[in-house]
Amino acid sequence: MTATPAFALLLDVDGPIASPVTRDVKPEIIGLLLELAVAGIPVIFNTGRSDDFIKQQVMDQMIAAGMLAGLCIHAICEKGATWFSFTADGPGMVHIDHELSVPSAYAADIRQLVAEHYCAHMFFDETKRSMVSVEQHIDVSNLDYRAEQQHFDADALAAMARHGLGAARLDAHHPDGDDAINYRVDPTIISTDIESVRLGKDLGAARACELLAADGILPAAWYTVGDSRTDYAMADWLHHHGHEVSHVDVRPADGVPAKAYPILTAATLGEPESTIHDDAGLAFLRHWRSLLG
Ligand SMILES: [Mg+2]
Repeated sequence: MTATPAFALLLDVDGPIASPVTRDVKPEIIGLLLELAVAGIPVIFNTGRSDDFIKQQVMDQMIAAGMLAGLCIHAICEKGATWFSFTADGPGMVHIDHELSVPSAYAADIRQLVAEHYCAHMFFDETKRSMVSVEQHIDVSNLDYRAEQQHFDADALAAMARHGLGAARLDAHHPDGDDAINYRVDPTIISTDIESVRLGKDLGAARACELLAADGILPAAWYTVGDSRTDYAMADWLHHHGHEVSHVDVRPADGVPAKAYPILTAATLGEPESTIHDDAGLAFLRHWRSLLG
């Protein structure tokens, strides 16, 4: 038997759910996520963060807020490389697609590189299981970090070549001996992510559909929510595969691209343009909760 909820939620975490400033999740957001899930709306997280981050910032709060027995929430982490599900009893096992992992010898080199040369500005994220992420210390100025990041990224690319791995960073391509590029060095505002080129929010969307199908759930429609351009890949993938989808952009200041599916912003709900990030996420969760009566 297939359940067909009116819609499902596929949620980026940093930005629409967790404040990008404090990293915390507002208690009202936790409460609304639980109410929607209890009403039969699938709530799925799709993040570049580690499973550990989701457990600490989201899962623990949902359980502490009184998550009902029988509810199961899926979390796709590390841009689709890992995933797990949790209930009121805690997390299930973390699944890892090892084919998508950065080689461990390379990761070990980067850990050492950070320890020896970059530890004043950044740290090696030990909670990642598949990607390699090196993140800014919060007590360092972002300007200083961004300058240092340029040097770190160059060293990370040089290490790729030493390991015989092909990598791309932005527009620069450095193929391996077979002319292949299997990894990317992706500088963000607060970190550098080093990962398989197959990782992305689109892979997360595919995994979300697989996880719901295994639960016997086929949503009639989807809402995807994010704060970055890369988050549109969730909606792109769902639309391309014939699902009805609307994308919520909680930080539309970057410009809203033309897409074949509806794009919603806080202004769609009549909110002022200053309603962004988790405030916009909260406004949409309230709206969806109200639809259920
Ligand atoms: Mg985000």
